[in-house]
Amino acid sequence: MEYDVVVVGAGPVGSTAARYAAMNGAKVLLLEEHASIGSPVGCTGLLSTRAVEECDLKPSDEFVFNSVRGAFVHAPDGQCLPIDGKHTRAYVVSRKNFDRTLAVMAVEEGVDLSLKTRAIGLEKEYSETGTGTKGNKNKKNSPVKLRIIKNGKPETISTSVVIGADGVKSRIASYAGLEKPARVLPGIQIEAPYASDDSDFVELFPGSSAPGFFVWTVPLNEKTSRIGLAIEPGIASKSGHGENSPFSYLERFLRSNPHVKARYSGGMLDFVVGGIPIGPQEKTFADGILLAGDAAGQAKPTSGGGVYTGAFAAKIAGKVAAEAALEGDTSAGRLSEYDKLWRKGLAKELDIGMKIHDYMGKLEDNQLNELIGSLNTPSILNTITEYGDMDHPSVLMRKLMFSGNSLRLMKAFGTFLKTLF
Ligand SMILES: Cc1cc2nc3c(=O)[nH]c(=O)nc-3n(C[C@H](O)[C@H](O)[C@H](O)COP(=O)(O)OP(=O)(O)OC[C@H]3O[C@@H](n4cnc5c(N)ncnc54)[C@H](O)[C@@H]3O)c2cc1C
Repeated sequence: MEYDVVVVGAGPVGSTAARYAAMNGAKVLLLEEHASIGSPVGCTGLLSTRAVEECDLKPSDEFVFNSVRGAFVHAPDGQCLPIDGKHTRAYVVSRKNFDRTLAVMAVEEGVDLSLKTRAIGLEKEYSETGTGTKGNKNKKNSPVKLRIIKNGKPETISTSVVIGADGVKSRIASYAGLEKPARVLPGIQIEAPYASDDSDFVELFPGSSAPGFFVWTVPLNEKTSRIGLAIEPGIASKSGHGENSPFSYLERFLRSNPHVKARYSGGMLDFVVGGIPIGPQEKTFADGILLAGDAAGQAKPTSGGGVYTGAFAAKIAGKVAAEAALEGDTSAGRLSEYDKLWRKGLAKELDIGMKIHDYMGKLEDNQLNELIGSLNTPSILNTITEYGDMDHPSVLMRKLMFSGNSLRLMKAFGTFLKTLF
């Protein structure tokens, strides 16, 4: 074998998986189709303090633009729910510099990094000596041949395990005969001049302005914010154009929302489009193959964030891939350990997050007004401050359900809360 592990995609998940595979003794190659790490960017760069920690990083001026401690949630009727986390809860980062920091850490761990290298196909060879389980004969340690185009030239690399960290459109998933993420929210974002009321807070606008999800403003500083939205895939026009496109929703919102109109002075400094995969596939492994991050549909359905969950899974993927390669058993059976371990850590929260996503996405504007109004009491806001957690929304949901909260909240939300646990 030329490599024990080849990781396709040098996003945060790929770099982390490659680093963990190398830390566990494997010879690792990390491929990136673009000529530059972290570019183009398809992200708001709002990372919880836990997400940064999960990537084994400390916040640094190299990638942090701003720190955020809470959110102003704006109901469709204009009322505002101020959620103050009281201390730093998240960072607004340069994804380009963040991704580069992670790639450097991988290289420092001994990973070979190859830019302008695109994976274009897989071939599987089956060894004659393997003793795979019944129905999986001779597949114990057969090499994977990964076809690539490097600097325009086709080549084939031989490896024990390929980790597909190639994002929401994962080609590795298709090549390996695995499902791709089925439910992908189309998103759009601009970076623009925006006079924030308080750059320690993000703003969220759920409701018909962005059906199925929400609009966000995320401040880089008091003068500039990232303003974006995602919508439910069934609503978005397939072509990406027309009045149901994310772009049209954003244009209409910027023109018509009185709060935002008063603070947005027009124009844009940056423009991003991308998909957010919610709901992981049933299977994230095959003979010689693992999928991680957006390729495995691991983003959080409540916020759309995928860096925390992706990094969590990447570390397991890197370790399991390296151990399996070095043991000489990279069969699907052996690699299924990864699937079990990442689901043990994330599946319950992703599942509850999906229920919250689906429930919130179906509420009419008047129901959202009622729900947001019912949360706006000092005691409930204290509960949100204490237990609100963008990576683990179930913690707050449980508290809201069991802490004897207001009748108004229970009327608006109680029946749904009971379905969560
Ligand atoms: C509008 C928007 C806003 C978002 N905001 C946030 C946020 O604020 N916080 C957050 O945590 N998450 C956010 N996300 C989600 C986040 O961007 C992803 O979850 C995260 O980037 C996933 O990391 P990844 O490494 O799995 O995939 P990616 O970051 O997509 O990296 C995949 C890499 O694989 C490379 N690649 C693809 N195919 C090949 C190939 N065949 N060969 C070689 N290389 C290949 C790509 O070029 C890319 O570099 C947002 C997403 C969108 C669309």
